[in-house]
Amino acid sequence: MRVVSDRADLRSASLPGDVAVVMTMGALHEGHAALLRRARAEAKSVLMTLFVNPLQFGPNEDFDRYPRTMEADLELARAEGVDLVFAPTREVMYPQGEPSVRVEPGPLGAVLEGASRPGFFHGVLTVVNKLLQLTRPDYAYFGEKDYQQLTLIRAMVRDFDLPIDVRGVPTVREADGLALSSRNRYLSPPERQSALVLSRALRATAATGSIEAGLAEFAAVPEVKLDYLVLTDPMLGPAPDHGPARALTAARVGSTRLIDNVGVELP
Ligand code: AMP
Repeated sequence: MRVVSDRADLRSASLPGDVAVVMTMGALHEGHAALLRRARAEAKSVLMTLFVNPLQFGPNEDFDRYPRTMEADLELARAEGVDLVFAPTREVMYPQGEPSVRVEPGPLGAVLEGASRPGFFHGVLTVVNKLLQLTRPDYAYFGEKDYQQLTLIRAMVRDFDLPIDVRGVPTVREADGLALSSRNRYLSPPERQSALVLSRALRATAATGSIEAGLAEFAAVPEVKLDYLVLTDPMLGPAPDHGPARALTAARVGSTRLIDNVGVELP
């Protein structure tokens, strides 16, 4: 496995065959491993990017304390058969400083996560676009854990005619239902217990086809501050009367903001 951090080394590290890219912000866990495994199984070459993108953090968010575990991340990448890691510095990614041109996510970027985190999806789509241009993959793997992000990346690839096959990977969870997240390591043991309400509320919503049951789960755990719990169609539009739908939630547990979502089949 090679590790490169600048553009020239990335360009000269030509990978054979079809190339799969997995983009990460590090602090890798089994969720990232699932993406890498899919990539490993489906492409000749696997390229992982590792970059904590300052553009997608708000001024009062956790950019400075976001976990950075480079050695362990490279260990996991090696174990999963990654061929090349691109781990640029901020200066390599943004040599002119903050970019003046950014990807505009459109209306879908202003709701749910976009409503709570202004500018978040501008930052995400801008870095994803840049990393796609820099790495030129055939396939790009993203987790359903960040469902709105996955939906917006699919929209960007379609609207910009990017010649890339975007592949979604189901959310990996702990045995008790908690979705794996790099931010879970912020949680104290009691907070981790409280955080189970997110997946519980989503399961209740999926089982009943209505958010009422999910809201009741949140009401029973007042220390968790609900941001939203919604039922939508699979493209995040208004919920259909029946058929495939999606339930999504975000909530704050102590100072940690967590998100989760599940597929729902409305009878
Ligand atoms: P991050 O490092 O948090 O930016 O995530 C990098 C990629 O891993 C994104 O495509 C995420 O959606 C995906 N990911 C994060 N957590 C999980 C999970 N629990 N299951 C599946 N994919 C995940």
